[in-house]
Amino acid sequence: MNENQENTNEEFTPLSELGEFGLIDKLTQDFPLRNASSIKGVGDDAAVIEMLDKQTVVTTDMLVEGVHFDLTYVPPQHLGYKAVVVNLSDIYAMNGRPTQITVSLAVSNRFSAEFIEKIYEGIRAACNIYEVDLVGGDTTSSYSGLIISITAIGQVDEKDIVYRKGAKATDLLVVSGDLGGAYMGLQLLEREKSVYEADRNMQPNLEGYEYVLQRQLKPEARKDVPEILAALEVKPTSMIDVSDGLSSEILHLCRQSGVGMRLHEDKIPIDPSVYKLCEEFNLTTTTVALSGGEDYELLFTIDLQDYEKIKGNPNFTVIGHVVDKEEGANLFTRDDQAIRLTAQGWDAMLRADE
Ligand code: ADP
Ligand code: MG
Repeated sequence: MNENQENTNEEFTPLSELGEFGLIDKLTQDFPLRNASSIKGVGDDAAVIEMLDKQTVVTTDMLVEGVHFDLTYVPPQHLGYKAVVVNLSDIYAMNGRPTQITVSLAVSNRFSAEFIEKIYEGIRAACNIYEVDLVGGDTTSSYSGLIISITAIGQVDEKDIVYRKGAKATDLLVVSGDLGGAYMGLQLLEREKSVYEADRNMQPNLEGYEYVLQRQLKPEARKDVPEILAALEVKPTSMIDVSDGLSSEILHLCRQSGVGMRLHEDKIPIDPSVYKLCEEFNLTTTTVALSGGEDYELLFTIDLQDYEKIKGNPNFTVIGHVVDKEEGANLFTRDDQAIRLTAQGWDAMLRADE
């Protein structure tokens, strides 16, 4: 468990010693600009970005301590990394390419300069891997917790943009990767935290759970998916990233496209380690995939004619298809029962009523 966020040790620099501008300088040094569209980064009143003939996509996500993350088990580097990745995922979900981010921080005196710098190590790692430029931000104080708000900017040719609307009956519903891992990683971390709180001598036993822990603590955005789809000459008819859980994302696509969907339970891709953990926690993998969230996979629909192009591709699984709006969004279970999807997952009560 991390105890390093507190100013308990002499070698930590209190934020008051550096001052706001000293801190900003320290944090933003060593962020080279690598995109031609980044004309001016940190250091003026505003950044300058030139998008030329592309359309610009912009998205923001705010992470609040105690609501979105728990510093007792989230290392600061991973927090910074994840805060960037969740934003980039939204850009990829528009079929765009992220180019710049801005980072806004609210921090209290509880945190040392070194701790904030570790968050920026994670931010820097994400900038390197996803080839985006840090071009600005804001730094302010908070009375207690830590808040990070990141804005990501990206570009995409107008003809390539994919919205949540656009799915039509007979389209196939496809998801990248596998689902439920991030949620099971969270369950595991919460369990080990309570064990630790009950007995401070107990060290967490997280061996053998690397996959789900990585899915929770250091997720990746599916940078590769727009590239693979472009290479296959497949343009999705609609797309969304899986941040809240498969069920709620399917409902978003349905609502915005004015369609219904059939999701097949036996097709939902689940990693073997997620099966194993679900057994341990007495959860069903379907519930976890539908309601868990934070998988940051891409969920999209494609024209039936494009099926041959993605068939057998290890990155993608066809999990259902689009139907008329009147049919609604339903999960078809392994024994072929239709269960209406709800934002929380699926609703067995509704089925009993029908
Ligand atoms: P202003 O008073 O004009 O808002 P600031 O002093 O807040 O300027 O910021 C100075 C420069 O540093 C700006 O380019 C701003 O975008 C950048 N900046 C401030 N805080 C951060 C941060 N936490 N991360 C990255 N860049 C930041
Ligand atoms: Mg400012």
